[in-house]
Amino acid sequence: MSKQTLSFQAEVAQLLHLVTHSLYSNPEIFVRELISNASDACDKLRFEALDTPALYEDAPNLEVRVSFDKDARTLTIADNGIGMSAQEAIDHLGTIAKSGTKDFMGKLTGDQKQDAQLIGQFGVGFYSGFIVADKITVESRRAGLPANEGVRWVSGGSGDFQVEPIDRPARGTSVILHLRADAEEYLNAWKLKSVIAKYSDHISLPILMEKEEWKDGELLTPGDENGGRQPGGMVKTGEWEAVNKASALWTRPKKDITDEQYQEFYKAISHDHEAPLTWAHNRVEGNTEYTQLLYIPAKAPFDLWNRDKKAGIKLYVKRVFIMDDAEALMPSYLRFVKGVIDSSDLPLNVSRELLQESRDVRAIREGSTKRVLSMLEDLAKHDRHDAAANADGVTDVVDADDKAKEGKYSQFYAEFGAVLKEGLGEDFGNRERLAKLLRFASTSSDTASVSFADYKARMKEGQEAIYYITADTLAAAKNSPQLEVFKKKGIEVLLMTDRVDEWALNYLQDFDGTPLQSVAKGAVDLGKLQDEAEKKATEEAAEAFKPLLAKLKEALKDKAEDVRVTSRLVDSPACLVVQDDGMSTQLARMLKQAGQ
Ligand code: ADP
Ligand code: MG
Repeated sequence: MSKQTLSFQAEVAQLLHLVTHSLYSNPEIFVRELISNASDACDKLRFEALDTPALYEDAPNLEVRVSFDKDARTLTIADNGIGMSAQEAIDHLGTIAKSGTKDFMGKLTGDQKQDAQLIGQFGVGFYSGFIVADKITVESRRAGLPANEGVRWVSGGSGDFQVEPIDRPARGTSVILHLRADAEEYLNAWKLKSVIAKYSDHISLPILMEKEEWKDGELLTPGDENGGRQPGGMVKTGEWEAVNKASALWTRPKKDITDEQYQEFYKAISHDHEAPLTWAHNRVEGNTEYTQLLYIPAKAPFDLWNRDKKAGIKLYVKRVFIMDDAEALMPSYLRFVKGVIDSSDLPLNVSRELLQESRDVRAIREGSTKRVLSMLEDLAKHDRHDAAANADGVTDVVDADDKAKEGKYSQFYAEFGAVLKEGLGEDFGNRERLAKLLRFASTSSDTASVSFADYKARMKEGQEAIYYITADTLAAAKNSPQLEVFKKKGIEVLLMTDRVDEWALNYLQDFDGTPLQSVAKGAVDLGKLQDEAEKKATEEAAEAFKPLLAKLKEALKDKAEDVRVTSRLVDSPACLVVQDDGMSTQLARMLKQAGQ
């Protein structure tokens, strides 16, 4: 291979333009991104070396070195991890392989502020270097390749980049940032240490910096101590020291971890710029032993509804990183949960296929699911002062005080409520716990704040079912003629407007012994709520209108299965209903939209 110039993939070019042109509110995150890449590279080496120990060559101690050169105005982040071959440098630093990239690009609006927020969520990773640098040089050599198969990758962060072969005896990667004039503050050991402490303290590798010490300036008149000196300064000593704790955050005792550290760790693993709503950190002992650190985000990611959306759990085995997006560890309806699970039992060479079958994995998934439900129950319990306490056996899963939890469940529900409902169909074992966590709008509340328990507590004397209606919008639900008799009698009806409601409620026949009844299905039997006189009137009307009904039935025979006299209307002359066992109109419309 000789020196060549290549173009960035269109998406990368677009992203780079955004990175350099949108006022990044938080430039120092580039330190976090580059150190996290260095750490990932070391994780990968450790993992590949399980099978091929020779990859360690003669440098088994994995580490990251951060250094700077004031005169050249460069900042270098070097690791002795897996490194990249020339082709890998071209592929990994010239294209974006991340799922959801298209989605993300489609959401960009051109509005700098909004886009900056989106970029934060998407995570610009390596390209964040261009926030502070006008040129980046990457020198790398993949573990296992000969020294003369190193690669140098250089780019100014616009349309293209150059690659050329180099000799590089040392395995791993050095990322050299040529800093812009306005980013000179990063050429300072104190500044770098404080940024590393903030963003990368949880990294389990040592992050080394060269020690500096004060050196007095030269005497102005040699030999004359009283003649004055040149100004002194810090000089490098050639000795390297670790500037982080170098222990993975989740392995430390809870009491030694501050809220800020938990939050920064979350931001580092999730690329979310907002703090999480809550988290739980536990060591689980027993048949299956593992540590879980699970977070519930405050905001839904832009690709929550993407069908290939990856799970947010990183799997470690005995502190060795195994894989991202371990979907087997969390059910799909909890795909918004982020965090780390570190197992003591799984084999280090576990594959995705193996994960699907492992009993330990099943136990971890069940335990983690229950933990997430407990977190949610705890938030729900503290959501409102008057909230019907609906959490059974919740222990102190969160260390924040109760006051701080107020309103968080509503916030969670607005973002993720619809996803949670998928659990009714997906997780039979936890269906009852899930049902308690659901919230709906109703004829007495415009916001999704009514739980089934709230509803039951307000049921009328003699009412035997929980009534609900599904519709596309709240307005459509509220104005449905099918609600007339309920309004007249002052009976609350839950208004369901999420697309998944119809499907999800198929899996929930009752709540706590009270059946759920759609007001749009079959002949609504108001049972004891209807007095004798009303029943009689309906029966008489049915009798009197028999000939008319027969005619209507004949006229509508291709369109309607039956035509009946009803007591459910007050003002409207007629309404459509579906058979008890029929598909609801809402579901029928949904399937039609989906082309079925
Ligand atoms: P992500 O880390 O989410 O994959 P990045 O933009 O941070 O995205 O990095 C892109 C890719 O570049 C990485 O997936 C990796 O393959 C490669 N890469 C980046 N930095 C390094 C490094 N220090 N050592 C080896 N490979 C790296
Ligand atoms: Mg990265």
